[in-house]
Amino acid sequence: MKTIEHWINGTATPAGSTRTAQVYDPATGRPQSHVLLAESSDVDTAVAAAAKAFESWGNSSLSQRTKVMFAFRELLVKHEDELARIISSEHGKVIDDARGEIVRGREVVEYACGIADALKGGFSDQVSRDVDVHSFRQPLGVVAGITPFNFPIMVPSWMHPIAIATGNTFVLKPSERVPSASRLVAELYAEAGLPDGVFNVVNGDKVTVDALLDHPGIAAVSFVGSTPIAKYVHERGTATGKRVQALGGAKNHAVVLPDADLEYAANHLTAAAFGSAGQRCMAISIGVAVGAAGDKLVEILKRKAGEVKVGPGHEDGNDMGPVITQAAQERVADAVTTGAEQGATVVVDGRSLKVEGHEEGFFVGPSLLDHVTAEMDAYRQEIFGPVLGIIRVDTVDEAIALINANPYGNGTAIFTAGGEAARKFQREVKVGMIGVNVPIPVPMSYYSFGGWKDSLIGDSPIHGPEGVHFYTRAKVVTTRWPHTGAHTAAFTFPTSS
Ligand code: NAD
Repeated sequence: MKTIEHWINGTATPAGSTRTAQVYDPATGRPQSHVLLAESSDVDTAVAAAAKAFESWGNSSLSQRTKVMFAFRELLVKHEDELARIISSEHGKVIDDARGEIVRGREVVEYACGIADALKGGFSDQVSRDVDVHSFRQPLGVVAGITPFNFPIMVPSWMHPIAIATGNTFVLKPSERVPSASRLVAELYAEAGLPDGVFNVVNGDKVTVDALLDHPGIAAVSFVGSTPIAKYVHERGTATGKRVQALGGAKNHAVVLPDADLEYAANHLTAAAFGSAGQRCMAISIGVAVGAAGDKLVEILKRKAGEVKVGPGHEDGNDMGPVITQAAQERVADAVTTGAEQGATVVVDGRSLKVEGHEEGFFVGPSLLDHVTAEMDAYRQEIFGPVLGIIRVDTVDEAIALINANPYGNGTAIFTAGGEAARKFQREVKVGMIGVNVPIPVPMSYYSFGGWKDSLIGDSPIHGPEGVHFYTRAKVVTTRWPHTGAHTAAFTFPTSS
């Protein structure tokens, strides 16, 4: 069985440690490779390589950096097929879905190709007699990214293109469940002309994460994953003086008003709840049916959920693959069972689904629970699987109050034909990313991505302008070119004149 190594200083690097984890093919339920798990000594090696590389990369010209980004972008296009297959084989998602995340990740690279514009400073002429002020931003140094299993390409791409284009060097710790895509990314960066040591990959688990968080040579950490780990990473990383952005979990609601096109809404809810087997941080896991929308919506959703084709991600024609692990498969089935026990109606039951020829795969079918309430576990927990719960309410105000009382605030959507309700919704709802008749409102790369409340720990969303800010810090320079003898020094605090 193949062993996946780290990538340090421009080359595949075996670990100092001998610890490994198995990487599964979720469609067969069988291990397909091993991944090395880095100890702190491996992290030291990677950080030392990144620190050395920073000495020159931190002083490289904007044109050199953008040249690499343009070349890297072309290589991502050329290798899209290969990347999509790697993602699908370790994650389980269908190939077209994998392509979708590659495209969305590539858009961040495209934003980084224009970093010269995003990094422009400010200039104020003649703020006082013969005095000008200008500001500019500089990179932080070595920065790290720690990423979840569900988007092996897109989520790391929210981080490294911006960090690198702004002059930092990068150490990525991808999810140990899906390590191979990051390895190919490292090779593509090298082919694009990125100097050795600027982009490094250390594979690992909690031991590796802790070593990164405690390392004095790392200036900033970007984390995306579940909320408990996001809180932990934020606390431990900031305790050692690092800048930390930590994006957490989600429970995303889609509100459907009676005036909406219910066929359209149900179509989009089905895709947003069951696409990628519900393993998206922007997946819709709760439909909030307002008033008369309820019965009709559930009837259409029942039909649509029954039409979802479940099977291995690499086989054409499937809409949805398996979930990531056997534990996840059991967790999803348990969530449906508990939902029923607590009073929800199981309209569609995916618990016993078997895919022919893949009986050991981690498959679970789409499930639809009606009459869910805010007290039930199916509402309170992030199931992170293909389960859509429906809550019935009477008014938009009730829907907004429900969403605002939820601890998460990543994404939400409203389906309506009326601008008045949509405007009220987007102004009053306490959620970071909002869709109006758009179920998965992931912002484009030139905006920043981030939720509110427990979906974002710390104060920095990711990529876009806020990503540029996160990976840089500002200097403001006040300059005077005096005429000979024209100015006398004063002992009072300087003011403009
Ligand atoms: P996870 O929190 O289990 O793991 C994320 C990363 O943290 C991985 O690299 C993992 O190795 C590491 N990790 C896991 N346990 C750790 C521990 N005890 N100490 C230190 N590090 C640890 O998340 P996951 O299961 O890989 O991904 C799914 C979660 O990520 C969901 O909650 C989902 O909502 C969330 N997510 C959020 C966003 C967002 O943008 N807000 C995007 C994608 C995924």
